[in-house]
Amino acid sequence: MELLSVIVPSYNEEENVFDFYEELMKNETFFQQRELDVEIIYIDDGSKDQTVGKVKELAGKDKRVRLVSFSRNFGKEAAIYAGLQKAKGDYAVLMDCDLQDPPSLLPEMFRYMDEGYDSVATRRVSRKGEPPIRSFFARMFYRIMNKISKTEIVDGARDYRLMKRQVVDSILAMAEYNRFTKGIFGWVGYETKWLEYENIERKKGETKWSFWKLFLYSLDGIMAFSTVPLAIASFMGVLFCAFAFLMIIFIIVRKLLFGDPTSGWPSLVCIILLCSGVQLFCVGIVGQYLSKTYMEVKKRPIYLIKEEI
Ligand code: UDP
Ligand code: MG
Repeated sequence: MELLSVIVPSYNEEENVFDFYEELMKNETFFQQRELDVEIIYIDDGSKDQTVGKVKELAGKDKRVRLVSFSRNFGKEAAIYAGLQKAKGDYAVLMDCDLQDPPSLLPEMFRYMDEGYDSVATRRVSRKGEPPIRSFFARMFYRIMNKISKTEIVDGARDYRLMKRQVVDSILAMAEYNRFTKGIFGWVGYETKWLEYENIERKKGETKWSFWKLFLYSLDGIMAFSTVPLAIASFMGVLFCAFAFLMIIFIIVRKLLFGDPTSGWPSLVCIILLCSGVQLFCVGIVGQYLSKTYMEVKKRPIYLIKEEI
């Protein structure tokens, strides 16, 4: 028998813990046919509701259910990392607790695995039910990201992904503190089959991602997988130097030809403001990378476990 580890990051998902389990277990006959043992690892990401209690209740009924409970909210990226570390399976699959990642796709995913793919990933082809502004910025993000990063990041890709042991180990080898899983998946490579499906709206509870949180997350992603912003800073420096040089020549020539009628205070102020603005902007970019480096150098643990079953 081979073992499949189902990793479920859960943050305040008390309403979904049981529903998810039931939905997953609709594949029971498939698991038996495919000769798969399953372990279901709920990663409680410091939930403030009854998530832990519900998982414990479930674990009491079914030995295959495991719980890893964090000491506080460390974020979904940390939960994914913890889940992959704890997974003992020959295969691991990441799934959201809110049933936006349909467990009914598993048989099809395994069919591709058995055809020889190393991992089967999913992407949603529509963003139905999402605010239009959010979709717009999401699209922009993917477009920019793929221009400035060598790592391919697929538009609409979800974290719902089935992987072989080898792929899991490769992801675990990337023990970086600033984790951007979508990029990490692309970075490790391997033969990946993409399945597409229409967006499914969350059944119960609410999304944990505000627009602002997503925006900051997208900046994290860019900085984790691209150094192009730093190059932009240097490029702007060169551009401004060149411009200043041309202006110097122009002013000297004008002085020699026409004398120096003193004027131009307003334009001077504009130039100073523009230049100092650009300088601060560039220092800011450098600062962002520096702060990421600082966090990385500290080597703080990515998560802390309070309780484990
Ligand atoms: N999640 C988590 N920690 C967090 C935020 C979210 O473990 O800090 C989990 C959440 O419980 C869910 C999954 O990550 O299982 C996806 O979150 P959500 O559905 O809120 O995001 P969305 O689907 O709206 O992008
Ligand atoms: Mg969701």
